[in-house]
Amino acid sequence: MRMKARAEYATAKIAVWWDMKDCPIPEGYEAGRIRQSIEGELKEKGYSGPVSITAYGDQTQTPVHILQGLFSTGVSVAHTRSESTNHLMYRDIVEWRDENPPPATMMIISDQVVNHLSWDLVRLQQRTLYNLFLAYSIMPEAFIILSRSEEWCWKELLKIKRSAPPLVVVQGAKFYCKSCNFDFQSPKKFTKHLSSYEHAREEAVTTAYKKVLRVTEDWGRNYKATPEFATAKIQVWWDMFDCPIPQGYDACLVRPSIEAAFKELGYNGPVSITAYGDHKHTPLQALSSTGVHVAHTVRGVEYTHMYEDVKDWHDDNPPQTAAIMMVISDSVEIISTGLVDLLQENNYNLFLAYSFRPYKMSYLLTSAEWLWESLLAAGPLKKHSLLHKCSSTAMFYCNLCCFDTKRIDNFRAHILSDEKHAQEEKRIPAHRNSTSQYNRRCRVAEYDRHHLLDPRHSEID
Ligand SMILES: [Zn+2]
Ligand SMILES: [Zn+2]
Repeated sequence: MRMKARAEYATAKIAVWWDMKDCPIPEGYEAGRIRQSIEGELKEKGYSGPVSITAYGDQTQTPVHILQGLFSTGVSVAHTRSESTNHLMYRDIVEWRDENPPPATMMIISDQVVNHLSWDLVRLQQRTLYNLFLAYSIMPEAFIILSRSEEWCWKELLKIKRSAPPLVVVQGAKFYCKSCNFDFQSPKKFTKHLSSYEHAREEAVTTAYKKVLRVTEDWGRNYKATPEFATAKIQVWWDMFDCPIPQGYDACLVRPSIEAAFKELGYNGPVSITAYGDHKHTPLQALSSTGVHVAHTVRGVEYTHMYEDVKDWHDDNPPQTAAIMMVISDSVEIISTGLVDLLQENNYNLFLAYSFRPYKMSYLLTSAEWLWESLLAAGPLKKHSLLHKCSSTAMFYCNLCCFDTKRIDNFRAHILSDEKHAQEEKRIPAHRNSTSQYNRRCRVAEYDRHHLLDPRHSEID
């Protein structure tokens, strides 16, 4: 809930997808008032663009006067078998996005967003952002990763009293039978169809689609740079605990190897790299001479430090700037809820590298991913391009003491023999243990959720 009715959305079109089973019309509530209630509330919030509404659900049980009330106020009605509602509604959402470029607002009225729609939708949103509203009957228990500018409890939304303008007949609504792929212009013809032999036969002989089709699942991992991002600056946060410099690897080659991987995809913007790790035994000279910043930290709290730096970096990079974030770590999910916000609300792209491929695809949308060791093994583009990258601007930070210096000997002295620093390092383990236990619990829960409770694994198609 971060954005107010921003200028570009104030008069842009608004599409509403409404699951009538999750969010039914309350007893005694006049169907013809639904549009009024929604539009009135949106106007109140500063949105006055044209609103299209489609109601989904098993319409064989819907009384004709309700169909009539919706239709006459321009609300389209789609018949779906209950078990296919998610699938069909989401398919329509994806199709609408293809046909209606932003700026525009999407509003989803359903209790299924968190469990069934959000994974794919949040990936679509990271690629092409629409303003998003949600309404639901049951407040989701899980965290909603989708950035939205408004959300409502369905019943509350309908309850809001307004000086109701007279009901206006709105043209353009249709009735759809999603089972037979027919559309109709009158409630009578629609109900007649739903009780017809042909309709019953069609539903009997075709399998219902239950799963939501994830359209981003087969998106590639490495994309050529689009013109907008070809010269965008690239900020790299490198977790050396998860992704260390391999035994025997020349630390001078880390930066040129990373840059070569970018160039291969057409990314030529300036690269800034910060290496987080325990730097008592790091080849500091080699890293700093190639312009890699060094941040001293302790395992288990490095994510906190990295994420604080991500936020600082974001503060220096306005929302509309094309910029690229790269995280080199095996545990990007620990900071993923923060990252996914940034990716939805800014014009940023994300790169990832890790020491092993994650066992499942993240809801973080990336433009490029690498296996850390393969990236390093590929090496720099040209050997002679190595030296001119040398830079004296590399900084040394101690994340534990908020100490920084440009001098390698000062830094060494600080992390190796400064007493206050030594005390600070001793203080960390208690905190670190609780963090790593917490992280472990999160991962175990995540794994169980994926392997034990996911209904898709018990479903036979
Ligand atoms: Zn039909
Ligand atoms: Zn320190």
